[in-house]
Amino acid sequence: MAAAHGFTFKLSSLYRTVDGGVVYVCANCQVPLGDTNDWNGKLQGESVVLLKAVSEFVKCGRVIRSRDPDDAGSKYHPLHCSNCGSPLGRFYFSTPPHLTNKLNLYNIDSTAVKEYTLGEDLDSMIPASEAPLTLETCQYFEEEFKKQHVLLEMLQEKMSKLENRVLPPEQDS
Ligand SMILES: [Zn+2]
Repeated sequence: MAAAHGFTFKLSSLYRTVDGGVVYVCANCQVPLGDTNDWNGKLQGESVVLLKAVSEFVKCGRVIRSRDPDDAGSKYHPLHCSNCGSPLGRFYFSTPPHLTNKLNLYNIDSTAVKEYTLGEDLDSMIPASEAPLTLETCQYFEEEFKKQHVLLEMLQEKMSKLENRVLPPEQDS
């Protein structure tokens, strides 16, 4: 469930991207995996998207030394979606010289992701005010409110301490 909540909030935070930016979501379960803010190119012919950074939904597996003819000798972490377990691609941290363009990047298999262009389906989008409010989202908001409240109290306390230090003591008349 936490993943589903993260999804909702991640997407809204991704709106900070430039207009027309693309969000890559898992083709299987739709959680956001990355966006074009961290885009580093596309390998033509290999249908691989190269990303400098990915979301928390992309998890690295244990190191594998490749035996594939294409990238023999490379070492990489296999990548998978933490929400549904689908394989997503590879993160290379050691490659032969002809593959250095893949090095230290998330090589996301473009068949494992769907591209969501920001603002693309604006007409068919359901405004947040009309979205169904589930018990889970309510609980999530309640928790968030509690957290914010605690934070606010801490800030108020700090503020009053600061005030006491900065402002001259009130004169007794
Ligand atoms: Zn997934």
